[in-house]
Amino acid sequence: MAILYYDKDIDDSILVDKTIAVLGYGSQGHAHAQNLKDNGYNVVIGLYEGSKSKSKAENDGFEVLSNSDATKKADLISFCLPDTVQGKVYKEEVLPNLRPGQTLLFAHGFTILYEQINPPKNIDVVMIAPKAPGHRVRAVFERGLGVPCLVAVDNDFSGNAKNTALAYGKGVGGGRAGILETTFKEETETDLFGEQAVLCGGVTELIKAGFEVLIEAGYEPESAYFEVLHELKLIVDLIYQGGLGYMRYSVSETAEYGDYTRGPKVIDDNVKENMRAILKQIQSGEFAKEWIAENDEGLHRFNHLRKQNEKHPVEKVGKELRDMMPWLESTT
Ligand code: NDP
Ligand code: MG
Repeated sequence: MAILYYDKDIDDSILVDKTIAVLGYGSQGHAHAQNLKDNGYNVVIGLYEGSKSKSKAENDGFEVLSNSDATKKADLISFCLPDTVQGKVYKEEVLPNLRPGQTLLFAHGFTILYEQINPPKNIDVVMIAPKAPGHRVRAVFERGLGVPCLVAVDNDFSGNAKNTALAYGKGVGGGRAGILETTFKEETETDLFGEQAVLCGGVTELIKAGFEVLIEAGYEPESAYFEVLHELKLIVDLIYQGGLGYMRYSVSETAEYGDYTRGPKVIDDNVKENMRAILKQIQSGEFAKEWIAENDEGLHRFNHLRKQNEKHPVEKVGKELRDMMPWLESTT
């Protein structure tokens, strides 16, 4: 079992009187910056000229600097930038201003693991990865709670890298829920696998396949939408709240019996074999190489895939049905 840290285990004095530069003010950036500020830390924001987040950060009471000036001013530099721009920002604006003993902090390990960023040895390199989107990180914090985080150390120059990371984790509220120790490799590979095989890729293909099978058999798209997409939230909420068993306890016995006997026929050994192949591509760096090249070449294939998926019939009927349900809650 991994080691867990809570507020009471963490000495946050290591970051007091220090300056934290949060680069980026998007989903994670705005939440980290505001939670850290509310916990009494000195925070400045780094953004590029013309960023649409600039006025938001200023309105929230932050000093906004260029990435270069934020790096110069800070003891700890937090990369809350899109993973695909981190390498460029690092090379052009952060690296030329780095001083020995500074800390680079990441919310995801991609750019370090796949060597888009290769920091010098005299810099601490750590991770605090909240296990929720930024808006949830902020909202939960405002209610006096926190979202669980992962902590990892890639390079410990100061001998205090983990304590610095934990102090940051406490600052964003993670110590209220628990901060789990991991490595850059484990966080990145399991994160990519989860989103590809299960959470995003797996679920969307499962929905589309179920929808298509019902349509091919002559059922109405509206009925198909409700049964394979709309109701997914109700089921996932139960699983989220109490695990698979709680969901099964809440649904009918007919549903539970169908789950045990038919589920394994859908997700069979072939699916697991495919998942293993996907995991191998992540572990070998093949996926990262492909995605970095796709970005370098202007995202043509990505944009094409996005357009193609927007045209799927489940999206058309879904839009019409959701317009009839204005009460649907937006959840972030
Ligand atoms: P977002 O896309 O939400 O925000 C990125 C921010 O960076 C925006 O404010 C954007 O400005 C700014 N930005 C873009 N380019 C530059 C630049 N060159 N210089 C300075 N700022 C720039 O990113 P996320 O918060 O989603 O992701 C940040 C990190 O957090 C990533 O490593 C991600 O993997 C990780 N993470 C994300 C999670 C999530 O749920 N979103 C969960 C856990 C980790 P503008 O507004 O002008 O575009
Ligand atoms: Mg993830």
